[in-house]
Amino acid sequence: MARWTGGCMCGAVRYELASEPFDCGWCHCRTCQLTSGSPAMVFASVPVADLRWTQGGDEVRQVRSSSFGHRSFCSECGTPFLMQVDHQPETLDFSVATLDRPGAVAPAFHIFWGSKVPWFNPRDELPRHDRFRPDTRGLQGTEPPGD
Ligand SMILES: [Zn+2]
Ligand SMILES: [Zn+2]
Repeated sequence: MARWTGGCMCGAVRYELASEPFDCGWCHCRTCQLTSGSPAMVFASVPVADLRWTQGGDEVRQVRSSSFGHRSFCSECGTPFLMQVDHQPETLDFSVATLDRPGAVAPAFHIFWGSKVPWFNPRDELPRHDRFRPDTRGLQGTEPPGD
């Protein structure tokens, strides 16, 4: 079995990553809350070409989720897989919880801390950013997009 594999709750969709994920972090934005039905999500990035649907790729649906990105999910069970943002066309962000071994990559920061649900209180020492990280790829020298 490849090192980085994952899939959805119902088993219709399976994927495999060809490279080690990077930039793993928590996101507390409102869209993540609605997409997941949870206070926050953990994403990590890989180059777009490095995620391959090994089963059920036709079941993956995509919706525009904000002014700057879209989300992909299993159309059968709703498990959220991907977030892709316009300012980072070369990479995609996948939901770490969908990995077969979600513990294999750990978050290193929090973004959109400003919209964190008040009763959700992570006790880690990770850097916390109100919205995007200041060094976000694709956003240096530009005005960050709104929600
Ligand atoms: Zn599914
Ligand atoms: Zn988010």
